[in-house]
Amino acid sequence: SDNFYDIVAARFPANPDAPFIELGSGAVLSYGDLAATSARYAHLLRSLGVVKGDRVAVQVEKSAEAVFLYLACLRVGAAYLPLNTAYTRAEISYFLTDAAPRVFVCAPTTEEGLRDTAAEAGVGTVLTLGANGEGSLSERAAGQPTGFDTVACGPDELGAILYTSGTTGRSKGAMLTHRNLASNAATLHALWGFQPDDVLLHMLPIFHTHGLFVAINCVLMNGSSMLFQAKFDADTVFRLLPRATVMMGVPTFYTRLLADDRLTREATAHMRLFISGSAPLLADTHREFFARTGKPILERYGMTETGMLTSNPLNGERIPGTVGFPLPGVSVRVADEKTGEPLATGAIGVIEVKGPNVFIGYWRMPEKTAQEFRADGFFITGDVGKIDEQGYVHIIGRAKDLVISGGFNVYPKEVETVIDGIDGVVESAVVGVPHPDFGEAVVAVVLRKPGADTPDDAAVIRACKEQLANFKVPKAVVFTDELPRNTMGKVQKNLLRQAHKDLFD
Ligand code: ATP
Ligand code: MG
Repeated sequence: SDNFYDIVAARFPANPDAPFIELGSGAVLSYGDLAATSARYAHLLRSLGVVKGDRVAVQVEKSAEAVFLYLACLRVGAAYLPLNTAYTRAEISYFLTDAAPRVFVCAPTTEEGLRDTAAEAGVGTVLTLGANGEGSLSERAAGQPTGFDTVACGPDELGAILYTSGTTGRSKGAMLTHRNLASNAATLHALWGFQPDDVLLHMLPIFHTHGLFVAINCVLMNGSSMLFQAKFDADTVFRLLPRATVMMGVPTFYTRLLADDRLTREATAHMRLFISGSAPLLADTHREFFARTGKPILERYGMTETGMLTSNPLNGERIPGTVGFPLPGVSVRVADEKTGEPLATGAIGVIEVKGPNVFIGYWRMPEKTAQEFRADGFFITGDVGKIDEQGYVHIIGRAKDLVISGGFNVYPKEVETVIDGIDGVVESAVVGVPHPDFGEAVVAVVLRKPGADTPDDAAVIRACKEQLANFKVPKAVVFTDELPRNTMGKVQKNLLRQAHKDLFD
């Protein structure tokens, strides 16, 4: 059937002892374990009344069992709905009420606090799953059969609901079908040249599209193994790089590795591919990483609603500061945000996409869904960018982060690029804040390198004046020790706008 589990299961290694996950402890779980445990969980879910069309909400630490639970949901035909481990009880209350899952799986440590929350939201069953696989899920599934006839699903049936990162507002539940998961996994698996002996170094959270669908689904399609670590840690990376061939990371992984003297050609010699996404990779980071290791990081671009959309090439030039070409089967165009008119090559506008990877809508938000699609079926990503003459896609920022100062459009990225180029600057974030004369004023929040010759605000303004039209030059420069980021390494500009909203009162 078109059930994504059936699609990957057909490609699993013939030998059930073939490794699937190696944990931080060194314990190894095989493809046989995957099949047996996901079958047990599927039986348990079914016995709890989970049927096709239901949702199973999950807020647990990263573990092999959490991956098996994801697969069990696919196998019973339910939608897997993972939640960020950082969410508080109030947030969980919102998500459970919104999603109305049949079953909620939480950590043994949070169960006491969440039981009432789940009951209030009308959730029938609460199970627990701990970081080492312990809890009532495993206990209750222990006696279940290790074989399960995966429920046949059509390509348009729901496989998962994934909430967006909430970078620009409240998280939205993206409804993803078996077709969405399968098409993206097949495309990435082929495009990135996965081979049976590839070993993926996995240090991302698994409640987000990057760690869950990009990383794990590629491994499942490949029938290969991954080194599964609870989180990023430089010591672990340097210990495991000699055994891995592919690493997927957010840009902060790469900046942290660059800050470490152990990052050398020798340390990365065994690696076939370093992939970055979820947030912009600074061109400087790409260049420095290449200079240190001889490996050009492959940057790709995507989002919860669409899976991956573009990628720099496996064979061919990976251009720093770009996110590469549209994936095979995915249409990407740049349009005028207001009119929807497609724009010429090189023009800046909103990025719109269409393809078998694009979600079918936001959960219980039909109006929001309708607003984000054009009449011809293209999804309006909300990202601003351009496609250059060679076909490389450039992401310039989010439409919501555009600053309109004195009636002129300012793209923060353009100003950030100038500031980041100043000696002594690590990085910057440019936002618009209310201003009595200009409507919005450009404000630069700047992170400097430690040391004597660090630039002051006059130096930042001077550099901007040399290279930018006056209306783009920041009206204020604020220095900071750290830019606020969420778990996926995304700069939270809403927090910066909030923090500096009274600057021009
Ligand atoms: P929300 O939609 O709730 O505001 P979010 O958009 O951050 O949150 P995600 O779906 O996790 O939630 O992130 C997708 C976004 O991440 C993209 O729309 C884009 O802005 C950004 N992104 C992903 N990869 C890249 C990349 N390589 N370069 C620049 N931006 C990227
Ligand atoms: Mg988004």
